[in-house]
Amino acid sequence: MNLLVELCLKLSTDLKEALDRLNQNPQNSSRPPSSQEPWKGKSNKDEDPPGDKSNGSDSELTEKDYLSDTKTSSDDTNNEQENENSSKDQKKKQHNNNDVTNRAPGKQPGAKGFGLKFGTNIKISEEIIHKPDHCHSCGAQFSEETHFKSWTGRDEIELTTPLSGVGLALIKTRHIYQEAECSCGHHTREEPGRCKKEDGWTVELTEWHMAGPNLVTFIASLSQRQRISRVRIHEFLLDWLGLHVSVGTINQCIHEAGRALSAVLPEIINEIRQAELLYADETSWKESKTALWLWVFTCATATLFIVGRREKRIAQKILCGFDGWLMSDGYRVYRDYDWRLRCWAHLIRKARGLAQSTEQQAQKFGKRTLNLLEMLMESIYQARENTPKIDLDKQHAKRLDLFCKFCEAHWDCEHKKTKELAREFIHDWGAIWRILEYPSLPLTNNEAERALRHWVISRRISFGTRTPEGTAVFTSIASVIDTCYKRKVTPWKYISEVIRLRRKGLSVPPLPVAV
Ligand SMILES: [Zn+2]
Repeated sequence: MNLLVELCLKLSTDLKEALDRLNQNPQNSSRPPSSQEPWKGKSNKDEDPPGDKSNGSDSELTEKDYLSDTKTSSDDTNNEQENENSSKDQKKKQHNNNDVTNRAPGKQPGAKGFGLKFGTNIKISEEIIHKPDHCHSCGAQFSEETHFKSWTGRDEIELTTPLSGVGLALIKTRHIYQEAECSCGHHTREEPGRCKKEDGWTVELTEWHMAGPNLVTFIASLSQRQRISRVRIHEFLLDWLGLHVSVGTINQCIHEAGRALSAVLPEIINEIRQAELLYADETSWKESKTALWLWVFTCATATLFIVGRREKRIAQKILCGFDGWLMSDGYRVYRDYDWRLRCWAHLIRKARGLAQSTEQQAQKFGKRTLNLLEMLMESIYQARENTPKIDLDKQHAKRLDLFCKFCEAHWDCEHKKTKELAREFIHDWGAIWRILEYPSLPLTNNEAERALRHWVISRRISFGTRTPEGTAVFTSIASVIDTCYKRKVTPWKYISEVIRLRRKGLSVPPLPVAV
């Protein structure tokens, strides 16, 4: 008989757990928004325009929206779902085209290449002669009488804006390089620029490449910002600009842009370290078959992406010398950091999940936690409007004391998720309630999550990166694009200028300043 009772109890617990799991959704658990059924999302809405990312004035609204239920997450779902479908479509199409199930990425053996046709149908509009102005051996200046001889040349195809000021135009320029013999006997040659070898990079950064800096930037933007595959970029350039660029050359352009921009990263890291308020988050990333993490650190003036293992060392390296506020989710590596803030959205989702549980103890714990968080949130919003006479942490000290005891009472709770949340509150006590002392600080890590969103969709389309160099290309370009948008500046002019200078072996210009 006893056995039967025990069995009944066990079955009933199992059933409750199964029911709870069935009821989980992105609003009451840490399940990703993409796990939500597509028919449960709200109306289709486009992704936020990049300019909105750092808009301080509407941060209150976004934060409230973010904390109040489903809005942000369901938008996410639609976006990702849509993209997931399109990536499936793409896969399906590729599959149909090739009729091969497990084909390797890139150009297929026997497939038609377009490399040789690169820009041959454009007429040369200008010829530029480059001659040395002094002897590279003795330093003597060359004069008008010096006899110059052409020794090499290259053609460059560049993307420009036509005289009308709108639209796109392609021009081809012929660059002729000359040499001269000095009276000292030395032959001095002017030659196309080339950046010296750099660790970790195999792609060349040089003026010898036929695509000009603007065209390289354009291709990088189609790939990284518009998330178009290399094959489709090839198709787009051919169909709309009449330009033949092989998929291999497109890949080379993207890699060259990535290498050029890697020199901007030290300045971005410096900005991150000097930030007063920094948001950090991480998500999974795949490099070939290795499971890695994509980390983001974002502040008012910069955004930095890093791909690596999920370990403390990475955070420590980036945050070396940082002494501002750090907003993060519950991730452990940030725990020994003093000036830390915790994202309440994560806590609210977990508490809501428990409140909706069929298990009585969990339900009770969840409801009380949710009520407390919602009440304090209201109090924080009011404090932002009018400074309260008594500080919030003092106002609510008694309430928090009781809640602490309540959490301690659940330290060994039989319900796993209740126990975990109770322990999370105790472990992170200071970081969670710090906002009460400084109500003007943010309540959520929305800023970092939004920074990741665009690249999470890219990951779904491209299935991550394939090589360490490809990963470095991705993080450099992504960091510079997002940093420029944080500064409300379009990144493309700056990126093109960085490529132009780096091809000559020169150092990079400082990041553009917000207008
Ligand atoms: Zn000389």
